[in-house]
Amino acid sequence: MSRPLPPGSIVDCHTHTRFSDGAATFEEMARAAEAAGCAVLVSTDHLTLPAGPMDPDGEVQVVEADLPAHRAAWEAARDAHPALEIVYGFECDWYPGCEEAVARWSAGARVRLGSVHWLGDASDGAWIDDPSDLRVWHELGPDEVWRRYVAAWCAACESPLAFDVMAHPDLPARMVPEGLVATIELAPLWDEMVSCARDCGRRVELSTAGWRKGVGDWYPSRGLLERFRRAGVPISVGSDAHRAEDVCWGVRDAYAHAWDVGYRSADVPRADGSWEPMPLR
Ligand SMILES: [Zn+2]
Ligand SMILES: [Zn+2]
Repeated sequence: MSRPLPPGSIVDCHTHTRFSDGAATFEEMARAAEAAGCAVLVSTDHLTLPAGPMDPDGEVQVVEADLPAHRAAWEAARDAHPALEIVYGFECDWYPGCEEAVARWSAGARVRLGSVHWLGDASDGAWIDDPSDLRVWHELGPDEVWRRYVAAWCAACESPLAFDVMAHPDLPARMVPEGLVATIELAPLWDEMVSCARDCGRRVELSTAGWRKGVGDWYPSRGLLERFRRAGVPISVGSDAHRAEDVCWGVRDAYAHAWDVGYRSADVPRADGSWEPMPLR
């Protein structure tokens, strides 16, 4: 077992490199993490359906043929930064029927984030968080996008992949800056998400990315985070950094916010595969 981390240690559970849709290398991300005083850095490049409508050119994800090079580059960064604990993980795009492929691609990962960015299945669907393609939002309207998103999110929670963390739980809020705002009361949908996470034993992510993307809020928003807290659903904290300068961005503020909402600890993955609840202060 690893030695417990001191309370309030900087841990970033969600980061990307240029192997998926990030801008930096593992080495650059590790260097930036050290400069930010990071104790544990979790790399979570995207795993997305290849050669299909989700990512036909393999731009967003680590394609299967690149997985050995991905692993080797991660190991090189880990070995070059022995003072930094670097954990190998993936952000897995959940869609109906993804399990077999995702299990194969993510073998060897210590951390698997479960994310719903896509409404639909392997043959047809649409991204919900791409401001350059808002067709699904205009076709279905924000209320129906939210309903379908929550149904997919709950199915992802229940997936046998048993994700370690459900990332950015209320991602449709990403489109608030585009004026795409639900008119229905979201609380009943939030309650469904909370029940699902609790009953499935999932953690949820407190993400700082919304503050960098103009959402002007945390993912999840306070009302949803308070519900997770009351239900005893643990959190992990992540920046969702796609650039070296965003590694660990806002993590200390996230700890303060979580404390304010009533959390006293955040769960932290360790290099040996264990998870520990780290006191926020
Ligand atoms: Zn994501
Ligand atoms: Zn991400």
